[in-house]
Amino acid sequence: MSVTEAALIEGKAFIGGAWRDADSGARIDVTDPATGELVGTVPDMGRDECRAAIRAAADALPAWSALTAKERATFLMRMYDAMTARADELAELLTREQGKPLAEARAEVISGATFLEYYAEEARRVNGEILAPDAHGRRLMVLRQPIGVVAAITPWNFPSSMIMRKIAPALAAGCTVVVKPAELTPFSALAFGSIAEQAGLPAGVLNIVTGQPAPIGEEITSNPTVRKLSFTGSTAVGKLLSRQSADTVKRVTMELGGNAPFIVFADADLDLAVKAAVGAKFRNAGQTCISANRIYVEATVHDEFVRRLKQAAEQLVVGNGLEPGTDVGPLIDDRAVAKVETLLRDAAANGATIETGGTRAAAGGRFFSPTIVTNAPATADIACTEIFGPVASIYPFTTEDEVVANANATPYGLSAYVFTEDYRRGWRVGEALEFGMIGVNDVAIATPVAPFGGVKESGSGREGSAHGIDDYTELKLLVIGGL
Ligand code: ADP
Repeated sequence: MSVTEAALIEGKAFIGGAWRDADSGARIDVTDPATGELVGTVPDMGRDECRAAIRAAADALPAWSALTAKERATFLMRMYDAMTARADELAELLTREQGKPLAEARAEVISGATFLEYYAEEARRVNGEILAPDAHGRRLMVLRQPIGVVAAITPWNFPSSMIMRKIAPALAAGCTVVVKPAELTPFSALAFGSIAEQAGLPAGVLNIVTGQPAPIGEEITSNPTVRKLSFTGSTAVGKLLSRQSADTVKRVTMELGGNAPFIVFADADLDLAVKAAVGAKFRNAGQTCISANRIYVEATVHDEFVRRLKQAAEQLVVGNGLEPGTDVGPLIDDRAVAKVETLLRDAAANGATIETGGTRAAAGGRFFSPTIVTNAPATADIACTEIFGPVASIYPFTTEDEVVANANATPYGLSAYVFTEDYRRGWRVGEALEFGMIGVNDVAIATPVAPFGGVKESGSGREGSAHGIDDYTELKLLVIGGL
């Protein structure tokens, strides 16, 4: 049986190396957002099962953290190899539960796997320090040790790669993990559980608990054994989990919402900017936390940019992600479609113009046409809220200072994009924007080699790069006196 068949047919959660049902026997339906058809069901677990998973992770911790970095890296590389070898199969499962076009799903599986490869390498560089002595007769050392049992709560928009980003550095650092995938897209996580099992990962090192979020979140945040929570999702839930984690003083990494500005200066390469805007806006149907949310275009090229983006948007093929040639899949659920419709109604009521799209696509259901909006006021909901749909809202500007001030006028600070051919301006604006990640003439900012994360209410902590593994370690001072 293949790993995806195992995930689907068994439909069980993975605790302490065993595939388990909920104690109550309750199950959650998972539907295909493109068709509404049932993909499968998973156990609806609660606090008790989550506590058992945390215990399993704690039991596995001493042996796992005692392995050498190279020994742990061997497991990560085995899982990397298995994921890349099965990328097509995993991509199909991902598209079925999440909706994104197959090519994007495959790219996600590969990019997620790359985190395993990257952290297999980085595991060998988790080093401590020996400090210059501050007094005669003693020495000071700093050990870098795994933080302990880690919990990861992940979203539905990247059901595979969001898990890898957390699991890979955690396991590499010597931590053991409890994952709670989004209830809308649990199968990519369970398929990975099957990969981990086949790779011989020791029981309890990785545990996957499925179920409704609130009780599992309460157990994770209140259980003192969990030393770190890594969360990716909405700012509202991130704030709630941060508050809940305060009582046990857990380390938290929060990757939360964004409201990314995408700034196009008159001196930009417009073809490059339009191509980038299509990717940053319509990839995953706009359902990414680094999607361009406010597109600011210098007034002198505004109409030309709108014309070209409209042309590009109208060529995008909307449909079932499993069909070849699809560019834009469905939105994840009816609530997501309703949110986009509400934002557009509000914008139109406030004087905005819908240049193209603006309605559900011909395919009906949760498919929404790529949409371009102009003339929305800066105070409209569409400018202040994370749209999370295939809607590009474009605003003209006249000066650099004005656009930087407007771009920064948000409680969010995840990613921002700048298009200009003037390197001085790119540098200046890049420094002035209050965001964790800035792309100048580029939107591909998520890579294992670079720190991904936000400032302000977009979160704290970083994923990727050497900083991303630091977040899973604790510094310990060892002072040796009497020498
Ligand atoms: P989105 O808007 O992207 O669905 P959410 O923040 O609602 O973002 O979901 C991200 C993850 O957080 C999902 O795994 C979801 O199940 C989980 N989640 C939602 N509410 C809670 C909660 N109260 N406690 C713990 N996890 C939660």
